[in-house]
Amino acid sequence: MVMITQKIFNDTETAFKLKSDDELNRALFLFGMINRPTLVKIGTALTKVSLRFRLPVEGLIRKTIFNQFSGGETMKACLPAIEKMYTKKLHSILDYSVEGKEIEEHLDAAMKKKISIIEFAAKRKEIPFAVFKPTGIGRIGIWEKVSSGDALTVEEKEEWGRVRQRVINICEAAYQNDISVLADAEESWMQKAADDLMEEMMRKYNQEKVIVFNTLQCYRWDRMAYLQDLHEKGRREGFKVGAKIVRGAYMEKENERAKKMGYPSPICENKEATDVSYNGVLAYCLSNIDDISTFIGTHNEVSNYLALQILEDKNIAIDDDRVWFSQLYGMSDHISYNLARKGYNSAKLVPFGPVRDVVPYLIRRAEENTSVKGQTGRELSLLMEEKKRRRGETTKANREPRNRETHREKVD
Ligand SMILES: Cc1cc2nc3c(=O)[nH]c(=O)nc-3n(C[C@H](O)[C@H](O)[C@H](O)COP(=O)(O)OP(=O)(O)OC[C@H]3O[C@@H](n4cnc5c(N)ncnc54)[C@H](O)[C@@H]3O)c2cc1C
Repeated sequence: MVMITQKIFNDTETAFKLKSDDELNRALFLFGMINRPTLVKIGTALTKVSLRFRLPVEGLIRKTIFNQFSGGETMKACLPAIEKMYTKKLHSILDYSVEGKEIEEHLDAAMKKKISIIEFAAKRKEIPFAVFKPTGIGRIGIWEKVSSGDALTVEEKEEWGRVRQRVINICEAAYQNDISVLADAEESWMQKAADDLMEEMMRKYNQEKVIVFNTLQCYRWDRMAYLQDLHEKGRREGFKVGAKIVRGAYMEKENERAKKMGYPSPICENKEATDVSYNGVLAYCLSNIDDISTFIGTHNEVSNYLALQILEDKNIAIDDDRVWFSQLYGMSDHISYNLARKGYNSAKLVPFGPVRDVVPYLIRRAEENTSVKGQTGRELSLLMEEKKRRRGETTKANREPRNRETHREKVD
C-alpha cells in the first residue's frame, strides 16, 4: 500500500492561478464578511425584505455573493467561466438554481430548461453531467404524499403522473444525448418517492453504463443500508448504480421537524458520525467500482484524501470515468484545481439563473459558510496564504532586476 502523504490541496498557486490580484482581494473581502454569523443573519433578512418590496438591491447582490457563487444569469453568460476553468482541466456542471416554483406551467418550463441544458452539455466537452432537483419539477407536497404511502386523490394521481413523466423526459434526454444526469437529494420526508423513481430510472437507463445518478445524503444514518440494498437489486436485475454522495444540506430543518413531530431524527447524532457514514459509503462505492459509479460531492479534505488513497490502493486509474470529484462554484478551489491538475476527474457545480431567483440558493451558501459551520476559516486562510505567496514573489521579482541593474552599474 502506497500512502498518499503529499498534501496536494495546500498548493494555493494552482488553486488561485486564474484569479487576478483584484479578484483575490474581492474573495478575501467577501469571505471575511460571511465569516461573521450576525452579519450574515442581518444581510439575509435585509435581502429577503428588499427583494419582496422590489428595492433595487440586485446590483449589490450581483457584485457580491452572486458573482462569487454563481456562473451568471444564463447558460451563455456562464461560458467564459466554464472555458476558463477548462484551461486548467476543471469541468463544469450547469445547475439552473431557480427554486420554489409550484405552478404546473413553471414546472414544465423547468423541465424544458433542464433538457435544453442537457442538449447544450452534449455539445461541450467541458460539461460532463446534467443535474436536476426533484422539487424543481414537482410540487414538494406531491413528493411528500407519495413518500408517505397514503392513497392519492384522483387529482393527485394525475399530478404525480405528470411529475413522473417530467423525470422520465429528463432521463430519456440524458440517455439520448449520452450525458449522465444527477438527481439532487432533498428533505427526508419527500425523498422516498425520489429514491424509488430514480431506482426505476437506473433500471431503465443504466444497463450498459451509468447515465442516472441518485444522491445519497450521508448525514442520514440509513444510507449505507439503502446503498447496499440498491446495489444488491442492481446485481440481481442487471443494472448499474450511480451514486452521488454528499453529507447533506438540510440538517437543522430535519432535526427541528423530527423534534416537533416526535419521531427519531433521520440524521446522525453528531458530525463525527456523519463523517464515518460518508467515508463508509465512499469506501463501499469505490470497492464496487464495476457495479457503482461514484460522484464524490464534498469540500471535506479528509474525505477527498481518503478517496485518493482508495483509488491508489485498489489500482484504479485516477482518470477512471466511473469516479468524479466535485465542489460548488466559488468554494474550495484548492481541492478542485489541485485534483484537476493531478489528472483526477474534477468538476465545479456552477449554479446560474436570474439574480432574484437564485437568491435562496445564494443564501444557503452564505449560511453554510458562516464560521459556525466551518468552511470559511479554511477559505480565508488559503486566500491569505496565496496573497502572502504573491507578495513574496512580487518582492523577489522586483528585487531581481534592481540587483541586476546595480550589478551592471558596478561593471560599467
Ligand atoms: C457537488 C455538490 C453537490 C451537492 N448536492 C447536494 C444535494 O443534492 N443534496 C444535499 O442535501 N446537499 C448537497 N450538497 C451539499 C452537501 O450536502 C453539504 O451540505 C456540503 O457539501 C458540506 O458538506 P461537506 O462534506 O462538503 O463538508 P463538511 O464541512 O465536512 O461537512 C459539513 C456537513 O456535515 C454535516 N454535519 C455538520 N454538523 C453535523 C452534526 N452536528 N451532526 C450531524 N451531521 C453534521 C452536515 O451535512 C454539514 O453540511 C452538495 C455539495 C456538493 C459539493
